[in-house]
Amino acid sequence: MNMASFRTVIGLEVHVQLKTRTKLFCRCSTRFGAPPNTQVCPVCTGMPGALPKLNRRALELAVLAGMALHCEIPRFTKWDRKNYFYPDLPKGYQISQYDLPVSQNGYLEIGDDQGRFASKRVGIIRAHLEEDAGKSMHDEAAGVAESRIDLNRTGTPLLEIVSRPDMASAREAKAYLTELKLLLEYLGVSDCNMQEGSLRVDANVNLHIDTDSGTIATPIVEVKNMNSFRAVERALEFEARRQYDQWRQTGERLGDVPKQTRGWDDQREVTVPQREKEESSDYRYFPDPDLVPVVWSDAELAAIRQRLGASPREVRSRLIQEAGLSAYDAGVLVQQGPAMIAYWDAVIAEGVSPKRAANWLQQDILRLLKERSESIDEFPVSAEQLAELLRQVESGKLNTTRGREVLTVMVEEGRDLVSSMESLGIREVDASELETLCRELLQKNPSVVEDVRAGKVKAIGALIGQARKLNPNADPGAVRNLLMEMVNRS
Ligand code: ZN
Ligand code: MN
Repeated sequence: MNMASFRTVIGLEVHVQLKTRTKLFCRCSTRFGAPPNTQVCPVCTGMPGALPKLNRRALELAVLAGMALHCEIPRFTKWDRKNYFYPDLPKGYQISQYDLPVSQNGYLEIGDDQGRFASKRVGIIRAHLEEDAGKSMHDEAAGVAESRIDLNRTGTPLLEIVSRPDMASAREAKAYLTELKLLLEYLGVSDCNMQEGSLRVDANVNLHIDTDSGTIATPIVEVKNMNSFRAVERALEFEARRQYDQWRQTGERLGDVPKQTRGWDDQREVTVPQREKEESSDYRYFPDPDLVPVVWSDAELAAIRQRLGASPREVRSRLIQEAGLSAYDAGVLVQQGPAMIAYWDAVIAEGVSPKRAANWLQQDILRLLKERSESIDEFPVSAEQLAELLRQVESGKLNTTRGREVLTVMVEEGRDLVSSMESLGIREVDASELETLCRELLQKNPSVVEDVRAGKVKAIGALIGQARKLNPNADPGAVRNLLMEMVNRS
């Protein structure tokens, strides 16, 4: 069977939890992991007569994210009620934004360090502020058909970021999510922790298929319930294949059947049908009469814009241009997040060469962090201490292997550089000590001396290995130079 040629068309809706201490319209805590229903009040549980009051910080974080996504920030924005019935929604409506969102018409630039696809801009239709619902807990595992509701999350501020259908593959969708998450982390807008539910993704996907009678579009499917970026990628790959097969069998196209919602089953690696998707008219949106609209002044927006730091994309190009790193190396470092870049900057500020710092951070530091399951903020060796160590390596006082041993002691025993070196018995070898060592080696190995004289300079390597055993503190480079000098002198 010939495959008809087709394009995959993907748009993503991402909900991220904004980093605020309190909820969007009340003063309840947003801390994760508290016992169920302990972070609630009359406002977020929808008691009659309770009045919402906007959390200013959440609004500012939303605007900051909109600005970083190159969005327009309209001067006027308001709050709407989105009405639906669900057990985890005590008010019977969600406070959201309908026709006048806090930001709109932006884009996110995505690229690929490995060059698998060119850089492209993914359009952002809107990024609006809304409150989260509660959480249903289904106790199926315990064999009891009992569902409970935890309202701790109800009213938590969310930013819903809606992209244009500009992604053409599952891989591009993953690249978009990765870059978006990184951008929000750099902005300090969200911690984007998928396990704790502070980043959730819904994907809209269909195919545009070339047929003899023109291009047709398959029905759009919204895929939900994806718990990792990897799951998003697999779900989209599966869904593109499934839609193609479905079209082959039935000729089904957009317009013949309504939009469908499907959920990703991570175990079986398939999407399965869920409830029919609501049309937006089903939600009976109307302006929330309890909340005043927001009108921005130029000065207020300018003050927020001041807080925009460098985006991951800008940091990458800084590392490439100023520090001479490869695109790949810059990508690996930036991917670690803003704390790693702050650490990097502090190491470089101490005068360590960027190339050496990049190597040590990527190889040794990342490995140690992984082994210890620590973030760079928790790492026991400060940037200044690491720089001190790397300067010893750079000046030749420590070779790389010895440097690694010293770092291990610094990390594991929490000692400073000097005491770590002492504990390993590392000290400087003086000139006479080095000379005695080399003379001994040459006396014990006359054949090597002959070989070197005969032009086989490589033979000297055997002696360097021996020198290392006799005195691990002797610098191999210095040993080599002195050996050669002594052979040529004699
Ligand atoms: Zn509350
Ligand atoms: Mn939403």
